[in-house]
Amino acid sequence: MAQVQRMSRLMIKTLRDDPADAETLNHKLLVRAGYVRRTAAGIWSWLPLGKKVLENVTRVVREEMDAIGGQEVLLPALLPKEPYEASGRYDEYGDLLFRLQDRKGSEYLLGPTHEEIFTQVVKDMCSSYKDLPVILYQIQTKYRDEARPRAGVLRGREFQMKDSYSFDTTDEGLVEAYQLHRAAYIRIFERLGLDHRIVSAVSGAMGGSASEEFLAPAPAGEDTFVDCPNCDYAANTEAVTFTAVPVDGSAAGPVEELDTPDTPTIETLAAHLGVSASATLKNLLVKVDGEIVAVGVPGDREVDLGKLGEHLAPAVVELVTAEDFEGRPDLVRGYVGPQGLGKVRYIADPRVAPGTSWITGANKEGKHARNVVAGRDFEVGEYLDVVVVQPDDPCPNCGTGLRVDRAIEIGHIFQLGRKYADIFALDVLGQQGKPVRVTMGSYGIGVSRAVAALAEQTADEQGLCWPREIAPADVHVVAAGKALQTELALAVSEKLSAAGLRVMVDDRAGVSPGVKFTDAELIGVPKILVAGRRSAEGVLELKDRRTGEREELTVDEAVARLT
Ligand code: ATP
Ligand code: MG
Ligand code: MG
Ligand code: MG
Repeated sequence: MAQVQRMSRLMIKTLRDDPADAETLNHKLLVRAGYVRRTAAGIWSWLPLGKKVLENVTRVVREEMDAIGGQEVLLPALLPKEPYEASGRYDEYGDLLFRLQDRKGSEYLLGPTHEEIFTQVVKDMCSSYKDLPVILYQIQTKYRDEARPRAGVLRGREFQMKDSYSFDTTDEGLVEAYQLHRAAYIRIFERLGLDHRIVSAVSGAMGGSASEEFLAPAPAGEDTFVDCPNCDYAANTEAVTFTAVPVDGSAAGPVEELDTPDTPTIETLAAHLGVSASATLKNLLVKVDGEIVAVGVPGDREVDLGKLGEHLAPAVVELVTAEDFEGRPDLVRGYVGPQGLGKVRYIADPRVAPGTSWITGANKEGKHARNVVAGRDFEVGEYLDVVVVQPDDPCPNCGTGLRVDRAIEIGHIFQLGRKYADIFALDVLGQQGKPVRVTMGSYGIGVSRAVAALAEQTADEQGLCWPREIAPADVHVVAAGKALQTELALAVSEKLSAAGLRVMVDDRAGVSPGVKFTDAELIGVPKILVAGRRSAEGVLELKDRRTGEREELTVDEAVARLT
């Protein structure tokens, strides 16, 4: 029997106002309701209520992973760089990797995902076909130095992921493991109460072939997907096939050149442009030795002069005008900077409404821009035409008009094949006594992101509104009055708890019923049980957090109703 959680003893501070820097619903509400606090950009502290919700998601994920025969392990998050050098990902991940050194100067990284390390573990532990198939998983903290960690726990630089890896000797085995995961993911997201779609995806930096994403539709989502109302076609726009037409980078300028006889500084440039040295600018293209190092595009991408400082010796600055981007009416132009493809939001065509979704791009060979490595996938300075996906564009299967929507990527499953097994020579002894190369799958769920996705999908004007399985309690009892009400609230709480429910009771003294009601709505436990006016008769009011429906019940009726 779980302890009744008394709010008088709970470390919680609810806020009436949204935090100043919050852009998304989950960020606003999880902070206001006292679930999380921001420690640094993209780095979050989980407070008592938040930890409970995170634990509940974790439990569901763990139960369903165990049900498909997954074995839980825990690998380190602090990793030597060598395996990631062997796979090429030490470079491929670029700025996304957190890199560090130990006291002896050896280099390490904080794990963004663990294909390399799991491959090594299995190589160490499994030597015969009899040791396979195997599914291993962990629920662990991951680290990615995301460029724009601004959506609350939706996109952390430190975050919780369930990652699993399957190891098989045959292709059929891999497909089976993949299907097991797919089915488990459906069960997980159903239990979590997350509305979701399964869409084709591109496999990105993981490598490998078949890949699907689980997307939770929500306006705050950073992915765009299309789905067909007529057939089962659904895809992340990153995976939609299209032809890209690279165009000549010289088309963008020069409009004006900054003459730099002396070594130019950021101050020289700023003075020339008539702005302060810490300004951010649109309509600006900066070249160093003929190589473009930054582009500021009308729309939302700006050049931060302060950050450019170190590049500017010597520099040629070219100003770009909106006209330079005009051309094909249905296309938006992207640009490949040294760090990869800039997510250009410039909209060339007046017919394309602001906020329209687009595919992030592909180069001459049709390679997609995702986890782009400039120089490998694209030429630095290369301009790409990016195809806009608009509602009612024809479905590639059946021609019906497509729907376009925003969503949060909550899960991703990959058939990796033998990519990592080849790199690390992962063989087991086969039935015929000969070594057999192992084939792998990798499967991720954003555990902390799922909390954000749930908040986004279920919240209403009053606040959070959790599905029961995920909520920090089954019932939130409110003592709305004085000693009598508090006494009844505590008594009914003990009864509910004895009946196996997880109970939170607002027994705070000196807090008005109004404040308690507002807090209960904000915190979002699915059932609210109020000891109020009719407490002397032993009558309580039960409120459904989602529907707002109320009914009056005696203590015994309330216990019967809630269990
Ligand atoms: P995204 O496209 O949102 O950057 P991803 O494709 O890079 O995600 P994967 O490498 O597929 O992510 O990782 C598996 C899962 O981990 C994702 O489906 C997502 O749910 C979660 N995840 C990835 N990055 C983050 C992050 N920065 N914060 C929270 N969860 C994340
Ligand atoms: Mg990512
Ligand atoms: Mg993704
Ligand atoms: Mg992914």
